[in-house]
Amino acid sequence: MQDTLGIPDRRAWRAVRNDGVWLASPLQREGVSCNRHGLNTLIGLHLMHILLLGSGGREHALAWKIAASPLVTKLWCAPGNAGIAREAECVALDIADHAAVIEFCRTNAVDLVVVGPETPLAAGIVDDLASAGFKAFGPSKQASQLEGSKGFTKALCTEFGIPTGAYGRFTHAADALTYVRAQGAPIVVKADGLAAGKGVVVAMTLAEAEAAIAMMFDGAFGAAGAEVVIEEFLSGREISFFALSDGETAIALASAQDHKRVFDHDQGPNTGGMGAYSPTPFVTDEVHAEIMAKIIVPTVNGMKARGTPFRGVLYAGVMLTPDGPKLFEYNVRFGDPECQVLMLRMMSDIVPALLASCDGQLKNFDLRWFPEAALTVVMAAKGYPGDVARGTRIEGLDEAAKVEGAEIFHAGTIAKDGHILANGGRVLNVCASGKTIAQAQRLAYEAVDRIQWPDGFCRRDIGWQAVEREKAGG
Ligand code: AMP
Repeated sequence: MQDTLGIPDRRAWRAVRNDGVWLASPLQREGVSCNRHGLNTLIGLHLMHILLLGSGGREHALAWKIAASPLVTKLWCAPGNAGIAREAECVALDIADHAAVIEFCRTNAVDLVVVGPETPLAAGIVDDLASAGFKAFGPSKQASQLEGSKGFTKALCTEFGIPTGAYGRFTHAADALTYVRAQGAPIVVKADGLAAGKGVVVAMTLAEAEAAIAMMFDGAFGAAGAEVVIEEFLSGREISFFALSDGETAIALASAQDHKRVFDHDQGPNTGGMGAYSPTPFVTDEVHAEIMAKIIVPTVNGMKARGTPFRGVLYAGVMLTPDGPKLFEYNVRFGDPECQVLMLRMMSDIVPALLASCDGQLKNFDLRWFPEAALTVVMAAKGYPGDVARGTRIEGLDEAAKVEGAEIFHAGTIAKDGHILANGGRVLNVCASGKTIAQAQRLAYEAVDRIQWPDGFCRRDIGWQAVEREKAGG
């Protein structure tokens, strides 16, 4: 399964696993390799029906990976997109309607629901599914507060000694203004609740901080801004850290880093993410060990001690400051687009890992990763992160997918009359694997250049920090 560049061919690899002759961790560690029947009896599972919730590039990558599992006989995705339709049967379910999701699970004997985005998690879909007798991957409503409330996370950090910036929580503008005037700038003003990644203002001047406070208390983010957290400005290198938890144990995932700004050289407004790569050279073994010991493990222990154990993916935003790593935010699901590169690099079957997280079985679990790098370039509709036109036509996807090591995940597309049309801000994730980040970057852009979409754009420098580090020999 080596191609001419020496990169394992993920498509061939998936085909082998889909024949059911190969199974990764945890059985692989015991030297067990078995076909569908053997597997079935060995671990006492019937083959599974899985429902995935979401419609972005993250969910396409998850669908791609879940569909490759020999444990799965049927995969649905609600609502999905044109790319996900290649991996799963897309169903037009409103995922905000928990009763409809439960009804679908009943009708179709769903064994596991995998929740991609944060909104249904914060709305308690995992709790509602559990009450109806269905297993779901992801945190409960209570545990989702790690993302749903910045104040909740700061209080947890204080209670359990997790390193983070100094902060204050405010429900009145006057108190917040007094606090920032006493602290001075730079300072960071955050809406407490979910604000689609827009609720954070890194204020370099006092005037900016005051304006941000006024905007938030004026209702710019609705209920999400009813409380405001003001946080010390942390300087250093910003990294993302991902871990899978079952409520008691956390295991780190491979490292991955995204690029938040919309334009090259990290210019322009923040976005949901314009690209990502894995591994990142900035998470050394020492940094990794320190983040696990000081941030991830105390969080998992703290949530358990409070009686709200965290199950699912913990995605920590960490600043590597001169005083060591400090947490500045948690997300409670896979990052998008970091998930895309993580799925490309995950060698193990993902389904046992998701089940182990749900069932409290991560203690003796192990995930294996391909050593090669992976990189993804987000192609967005012109105007993103502002208003965009929908329905523009995209050509050349098949040619792009022929680039060695390339994989294209759809983030916002629909199929109409045999054509793929853009249907959102972030539209495609053009990914590639390579021996190095530089090679993955070259292959991903080779694939990008085969796509004809005059109404789209992308950054041309995804992975630049890591490529520079590789060039310097680090
Ligand atoms: P968040 O929505 O919390 O991820 O914040 C958005 C961005 O704001 C992050 O990616 C950081 O670059 C920046 N940020 C958040 N908190 C801080 C902080 N305390 N100090 C410096 N930058 C921050």
